[in-house]
Amino acid sequence: MSEQIYSFKLIVIGPAAVGKSSLIRRFVENEFSLHYKFTIGVDFMTKQVEYESGKIAKLTLWDIGGQERFKVLRRSFYEGTNGALIIFDLSRANTFLKMKEWLSDARQAIENDFPVIIIGNKLDLIPEIGEIIDRNEPIQFAQKENSIYIETSAKTGENVDKAFLDLTRRMVNKNS
Ligand code: GDP
Ligand code: MG
Repeated sequence: MSEQIYSFKLIVIGPAAVGKSSLIRRFVENEFSLHYKFTIGVDFMTKQVEYESGKIAKLTLWDIGGQERFKVLRRSFYEGTNGALIIFDLSRANTFLKMKEWLSDARQAIENDFPVIIIGNKLDLIPEIGEIIDRNEPIQFAQKENSIYIETSAKTGENVDKAFLDLTRRMVNKNS
């Protein structure tokens, strides 16, 4: 009769300054700062989420510094991953290409198959700067990855909970 309590390792990956740390901070603490604080090495945060009425999953959120992809931390960072948010920046087109490299690197490093969600972050900037990336591209890319594409803003909070919650549900489905 005991309720199964899930505990998941969720990694947040993508090129530098796309908003990985900001998305985690918004999700966990509901805060945001425009002041850029470089992530050094690897950071963790934890949060419990109610992924379904009365059902809780514990998430450990792993955040990596932009330069760390090829360094010694790589192995322990990827080890035991249950799911990943892959982030690019809607205001910088080259981050979309780089994000794909992060994903293929993670797929090579992690033995088991794991669910991913593709995130275009900084949605709040689009009214100012216009559409830099043709949205069909991330949508098609996500389909190829058996995934979905979500646009978020760590600044306003738009779709942030939705992204983490959707990934949590995918991890639950994969592990039940
Ligand atoms: P990381 O290197 O991927 O961890 O990126 P950070 O979370 O440190 O964010 C990089 C910069 O982008 C910081 O100055 C943030 O304040 C800013 N930033 C992050 N998310 C957003 C967002 O959704 N909208 C806007 N306008 N700026 C953001
Ligand atoms: Mg960071």
